[in-house]
Amino acid sequence: MTGYSPALLDEIRTGVDIVELVGRFVNLRKAGVNYKGLCPFHAEKTPSFTVNPKKGIFHCFGCGVGGDAFAFLMKQDRVSFPEAVRALAKTAASGHASTSPSVGSIPRWPDASASASPPRDGTAC
Ligand SMILES: [Zn+2]
Repeated sequence: MTGYSPALLDEIRTGVDIVELVGRFVNLRKAGVNYKGLCPFHAEKTPSFTVNPKKGIFHCFGCGVGGDAFAFLMKQDRVSFPEAVRALAKTAASGHASTSPSVGSIPRWPDASASASPPRDGTAC
């Protein structure tokens, strides 16, 4: 085996934007929840190559290729699985560094409105 744990592979996979990755080689257009483009693995004139960003996978209805980000890079760059993992690990790491979605987007808790209306319990009578 390659020595990569499934957890690590999962982490890399979620850190990589497959649309961005495929978009480096294929001109992708948004089509509903998916992205479509001309397949880089076979000659075609009408796009049958789709990328599903939610699942992080690609599939071509023309030639039948498909898989995740690792599989795409292996096919595209003709590299082995460990090489694809290493390349995407770099991509994932740099992606995390440039965009930090958890910092700065935390909504402030509206503590003022929480105590603005005290409950009436009828003790005034
Ligand atoms: Zn194809």
